[in-house]
Amino acid sequence: MKNTRPGGIGYIDYMRPIQDAFPLLLAPKKIFITTHHKPDGDAIGSMLGLYHYLVKKGHTVTPVSPGEIPEFLEWMPGISQMLNYEEQPEPSLNALKEADLIFCLDFNDFSRTKHLEKQLAEATQPKILIDHHLFPAPVWDFGMSIPEKSSTCEMVYDFILLCGDQDLLDLDIAACLYTGLMTDTGSFKFPITTAGAHLMAANLKKLGLDHTRIHEEVYDSWTENRMRFLGYVLIEKMEVYRKYNSALITLSRKDMNLFNIHSGDTEGLVNYPLSIAGIRFATLITERGDEVKMSFRSKGNFDVSAFARNYFEGGGHFNAAGGRTKTNFMDTIVYFKKILSDIHPK
Ligand code: 5GP
Ligand code: MN
Repeated sequence: MKNTRPGGIGYIDYMRPIQDAFPLLLAPKKIFITTHHKPDGDAIGSMLGLYHYLVKKGHTVTPVSPGEIPEFLEWMPGISQMLNYEEQPEPSLNALKEADLIFCLDFNDFSRTKHLEKQLAEATQPKILIDHHLFPAPVWDFGMSIPEKSSTCEMVYDFILLCGDQDLLDLDIAACLYTGLMTDTGSFKFPITTAGAHLMAANLKKLGLDHTRIHEEVYDSWTENRMRFLGYVLIEKMEVYRKYNSALITLSRKDMNLFNIHSGDTEGLVNYPLSIAGIRFATLITERGDEVKMSFRSKGNFDVSAFARNYFEGGGHFNAAGGRTKTNFMDTIVYFKKILSDIHPK
């Protein structure tokens, strides 16, 4: 991969390898951990997995989510220790101010934290990145940036092993890290699911991990409303463009209000069209607050991260990316369809 070097663990030109940060962790430190806005299973799982590990090592750790934590992750061990910056700005900023070290997980540009962007940019403490998105911004002191990794949770697991602390893995850490491994690999289905990802799952199983419970907490915790909303969306809101091997779902604020839908309830919707034979590119356009949010997913060699970067100020991974715009909902749909007629899986 372009931005990593052979022989180094996530070494890139403007960031020192994470091993160089090990001396900083020898004595107990105050550590601030954060992740991207609208955190998913990998974001929250990696933060809490790292939180449990660092606490075991004697550090004082504050995990801070930039915004709302989705309900389907509220079962996670340690979640009560996590602050939500939007709801608890003061304790969150105090933790940032008092921290000796900052860990940034599952994002690679401060703007992805939305509300914490300015504070992180101005923070002078050493910043450590653990992330698997393409093209990190040159703002970290130390880190691992490995786009070939399935999930940030897999990288936190690697980090613990790299520190020589395999023996400190326990059921809490296992539950947190398994969650992101499961969600970011699409339950071990996406091509990014390497033998290493399966070996990690196997090792967590050996510790006694209850993987069925985690799957049920994350995927089988829908409200009846959400299930009916899915039916409505697939019948009324999905357009299939056979000649472009593509499909589009558009959700206005009105659609969401009809079913009393919360933002976390649209999670995963974008994947459904990819189960139609021949569809290799799926897009979800959602009207949300003061912006329009886009999610892109693909199968095979269609690079949605480039698509998001080139047309929607976004980014992400080769087969899963996102973007946003301040352009209004209807105009965004028109603009998207215009681009789609030129750029689509052939
Ligand atoms: P989702 O569609 O689930 O929101 O995001 C899919 C992937 O794209 C995630 O890995 C996420 O981090 C990334 N992503 C989503 N929105 C944006 C964005 O606006 N900018 C960038 N750079 N990445 C995004
Ligand atoms: Mn991730």
